[in-house]
Amino acid sequence: MFNSAFKCRVCDNNLSITIDFGLMPIANNLLEQNYEVVKSEYKFHMQTAVCNKCGCFQIVKVPDKNLMFNNTYTYFASQSKSMTHHFQILGDSIMKNFVKDESDYVLDLGSNDGIFLKNFVDNEIDHLGVDASENVVNNSKSKGINAICGFFNKNLCESIIKSKGKAKVIISTNTMHHIEKCHEVLEGMDLLLKDDGMIIIEDPYLPDMLKLGSFEQIYAEHNFIWCCSSYKTLFEKYSFFLNDVEHFSIHGGSMRYYFSRNKERSKSVDKYLALEKNIKVADDLTYENFKIKSEEVCNKLKNFLKEEKSKGKRICGYGATAKSSTLLNFAKIDGSLIECIYDSTPAKIGKITPGTHIPIKDASKFRFENFDYTILFAWNLKNEITAKEKKNGARTTWVEYVPEIKLTNAN
Ligand SMILES: [Zn+2]
Repeated sequence: MFNSAFKCRVCDNNLSITIDFGLMPIANNLLEQNYEVVKSEYKFHMQTAVCNKCGCFQIVKVPDKNLMFNNTYTYFASQSKSMTHHFQILGDSIMKNFVKDESDYVLDLGSNDGIFLKNFVDNEIDHLGVDASENVVNNSKSKGINAICGFFNKNLCESIIKSKGKAKVIISTNTMHHIEKCHEVLEGMDLLLKDDGMIIIEDPYLPDMLKLGSFEQIYAEHNFIWCCSSYKTLFEKYSFFLNDVEHFSIHGGSMRYYFSRNKERSKSVDKYLALEKNIKVADDLTYENFKIKSEEVCNKLKNFLKEEKSKGKRICGYGATAKSSTLLNFAKIDGSLIECIYDSTPAKIGKITPGTHIPIKDASKFRFENFDYTILFAWNLKNEITAKEKKNGARTTWVEYVPEIKLTNAN
């Protein structure tokens, strides 16, 4: 459906809607079990499009950022040991390769609970975290991290330069895809980065999402799913060039991008740009097929749950993730099929899932319940979770659903 009212946020090209998810809640907005709260739950019309010019995949109209990033943000990145390890390796590499001078400091955009900057505190290296959610900033400060609460833009960067000077490295992991006004971020980076500085970005990679059919990556907080071609277009508008990329399997497939004022380009960049062209990342038809794949994932899971439930089986979920919010709401799977979802984040326990209102329980109690089936919503942390619960002696059958239903006995 062509709708010229929507423009690409990167290059201003006209967009046409490719997937309409209908009304969706805000994925990280878990609710108190309270009638009034549930009755007034906020929802928005989630429609996505890809830019046929630059390959930027985006939600065309996102909710106000203050509704998504505030004092009740429930994602604390350090909950995951494997992610903590992943960022420790990156921190070591930055300290070794980029931080050379006394005046060099590292700025982390979307510093969350300090999962990345903790490495710099431990090594007494100057740093600054910026995050829009006050509760996660306060959590990071309690670990000794130097962090401020605010939205990253030109004004904020001007005040940082006044107090601290320019940054040697600006890093942003799993954050850029949260920010609707991507040009404001680039305007800030353009001011804040030292001439010989480096920008390192990491987030979910669009071709991986397409390959897996993992449409769950799309929710209000994930305004964009980026790839090399769309990032390259955005950064080149500010004379930053894509020098290198590294691919990781975390979060169902992530890409790390390195940008600087230098025009040098690695073979990896060429390889992934060619791959994106090959799979037609900027074509509407690619997303028509992706939509069919996504609906298949939903239908297969829902039919499986219905069938097992009719046999009297007890079913729960593991990981009240933002991803699961898209799946549950799009597939219309609620408390009639899933009794509860276990999670280890204190801020989530005792609440209910957005839109589908499934109770969230303390993961430390999971081992005592022996559910027949447990849907692994946090499938990106599969090894970590299944090993932990095996050690705990939990008895269940794990259910994975992307790209196909896969059952694994917990013991
Ligand atoms: Zn575009």
